[in-house]
Amino acid sequence: MRFQHKITCVFAAIVGAILFAAYIYLNASLSERVYQETRDMLVNDINAARLYIEKELSTESSPDKIKNVVDKISQAIKNRVTIVSMEGEPLADSEIPESDIGNIENHLERPEVRQAISAGCGMSRRFSTTLKKDMLYAAITFKTPVYNGVIRVSESLSKIQEISAHLRATLIAIFIAAFALIAVGAFFVSLFFTRPLTGIVNDIKEITNENFSGKVIVPPVKEFEDLAGAFNRLLSKLVSLLKDETSSRSRMEAILQSMTDGVMVVDGKGAILFINATFKYLFAVKGDVEGKRPLEVIRNVDVQDTVDLVLKNELSVSMKEINLIMPQKKVLAINAAPVVRDVAVDGAVLVFHDMTELKKLESVRKEFVANVSHELRTPLSSIKGYAETLMDGALKDEKNAGDFVRIIYDDAVRLERLVNDILDLSKLESDRWDLNKRILSLSGVINKTAGHFRAAAAEKDIKITVNIPASIPEVMADEVMLSQIIFNLVDNAVKYTDHSGSVVISAVGNKDHVRVSVSDNGIGIPQEDLPRIFERFYRVDKTRSRELGGTGLGLAIVKHAVQVHGGDVSVESTPGKGSTFSFTLPIYS
Ligand code: ADP
Repeated sequence: MRFQHKITCVFAAIVGAILFAAYIYLNASLSERVYQETRDMLVNDINAARLYIEKELSTESSPDKIKNVVDKISQAIKNRVTIVSMEGEPLADSEIPESDIGNIENHLERPEVRQAISAGCGMSRRFSTTLKKDMLYAAITFKTPVYNGVIRVSESLSKIQEISAHLRATLIAIFIAAFALIAVGAFFVSLFFTRPLTGIVNDIKEITNENFSGKVIVPPVKEFEDLAGAFNRLLSKLVSLLKDETSSRSRMEAILQSMTDGVMVVDGKGAILFINATFKYLFAVKGDVEGKRPLEVIRNVDVQDTVDLVLKNELSVSMKEINLIMPQKKVLAINAAPVVRDVAVDGAVLVFHDMTELKKLESVRKEFVANVSHELRTPLSSIKGYAETLMDGALKDEKNAGDFVRIIYDDAVRLERLVNDILDLSKLESDRWDLNKRILSLSGVINKTAGHFRAAAAEKDIKITVNIPASIPEVMADEVMLSQIIFNLVDNAVKYTDHSGSVVISAVGNKDHVRVSVSDNGIGIPQEDLPRIFERFYRVDKTRSRELGGTGLGLAIVKHAVQVHGGDVSVESTPGKGSTFSFTLPIYS
């Protein structure tokens, strides 16, 4: 119920109660007053009637005479008059014809008659069964020389009822008028008081709709002024709290979004509340996912199981590995923890760490260790075997002993080369190589390095040509490393080229870099081996490589050394026709 209506109702109830009380009081007092007056009048009338009867009936008391006297008195006082004998017998009644008087019952039982007979006078108020009205009766005895009896006069009390009814009607009219007046008055009074309140409520509604911006207009009424002031203070506190909350929430979201790990937050029922950009990338999630179950969004049973486990058992999960096939092959480690609020689990946070690279590195490392052990074991077993043979007596066999020692020496040289290559490679990979970059003339370094191969090339009748234009710019490089790159490439070109072949070392430059190429017309490399040719220990023909003193690490060293300089390597090859290995180096400018 509105405040305004309540005020009106309260006013109406108060006025109603006052008017009702006034009605009860006025009704009672007025009725009493009317009754008193009626009674006094009746007493006067009956006394006068008595005197008149005592005079009129002093000589004669025939029924006609009595009736005549009764009618006269009745006309004079305009009330009913009855004369009863001392035995209670009705003798005459102004309201009843003389012929019927005999049918009227004895009046001895009437209280006023009885009182009059015993005490001289009597009065009673009761309902007349004869007249069907509320009546007031007065009776008094009279004495004449010829006759004694009781005279009774009655007066109808309907006047009192009339007064009461009139009073009631008047009060009802007053009540209606007062109520209408009060309703209108209360309406305006309450409007006066509630208007500022309504204004405050409307302002609050507007403020709520517009995201708490604005203020309540302070009305010029003390109490409402306080209310509006208190609300404005509450509002500014709320706004500052909201600001804090929003900024800490957006800070938190920015942190989560920028994490390189995938993050998913679910509520207590397992519905997604938040996922970050990395999670979207890892699982190729598109569109709005809020409120959905993880299984609906990423179709991964392992992830759903982890969510269920954490929510159901309230346990953390750490480093649970899962293998993704779709959208890309990946190994992920899940760390998940329940979110506990008020001692109950209210959700879970899952963090997805991409382990793919780590796993790859781990398997590369394992493979490398296995390869290294294998490569070391072969020359070592050979050395051990020949040394044992020599110890077992072959030392005395001069013819073979020399060959055995040569083999041991060759294997030791191979071992040394292998160990050196492994050390170089590991230095390059772990950035432990002290890079000493300086301005270098490319043709100087190439010519010097190619010179090492003159003898080996001549042995196979291979022609090495260095084709570097004079205009080629100088490069910024580590001389030892650059020599090593060229050495490994020319070494391979000579090794994998048959008799009478040719090796050409050339270079071209542009404004950014130079491209150095080592081409041969040797055995070439099958197409399917090309993508893996720069991997450690990858060899097209293992036996041939070993026979030629290869370690399988030459190209891997080339690749890393070039990359350390900011360049890249490439290869083109046709089996039976030859190969071209190229690398780039940034120029000095
Ligand atoms: P290796 O010590 O075995 O030569 P590399 O890493 O230098 O090891 O080369 C890897 C493999 O690439 C070689 O075993 C060989 O099969 C192939 N290869 C490298 N250079 C050439 C080339 N110029 N012609 C043909 N095959 C080559």
